[in-house]
Amino acid sequence: MERTLIIIKPEGVQRGLIGQILARFEQRGLKLVGLKMLQMSPALAEEHYAVHKGKPFYTGLVKHITSGPVVVGVVEGRGAIKMVRTMMGATNAAEAAPGTIRGDFALEIGYNIIHGSDGPETAAREISLFFKPEELLDYRLASESWLY
Ligand code: ADP
Ligand code: MG
Repeated sequence: MERTLIIIKPEGVQRGLIGQILARFEQRGLKLVGLKMLQMSPALAEEHYAVHKGKPFYTGLVKHITSGPVVVGVVEGRGAIKMVRTMMGATNAAEAAPGTIRGDFALEIGYNIIHGSDGPETAAREISLFFKPEELLDYRLASESWLY
């Protein structure tokens, strides 16, 4: 099974969208194996977004993601990385398809509600930034035998 990191960004938390966003992953049959609420330090945010260092939006991005609490989760399922990205929609929320999280809840690239890892190496790196191995839990969904 594949695992990926999701972050409900400060605007998602402050708009009261935590439950609706997590519900989408649950409805789809994906499994949350780790979940926490925290406010990122600048150091953690810089590490998380290190790939964007030097880009014009980097400073604003770090400032924004550290501006308030976020919800961080690890989502598990077959092909979870790509599936979560598909469910998120395009980075620029103005272009995100209706039915996607960004396409249903957001209008702007800078307030696009959710982060999801973009590949297997990124997912492993990002999960380890936010979760200790023992914080990722093993259990069985009641629905699991009908999903795969
Ligand atoms: P994604 O979150 O879809 O993986 P990126 O990794 O390219 O997108 O960018 C990380 C985050 O940085 C985006 O989710 C968005 O919040 C912000 N961002 C990206 N590009 C821009 C931009 N041109 N202007 C403002 N913010 C941006
Ligand atoms: Mg990205």
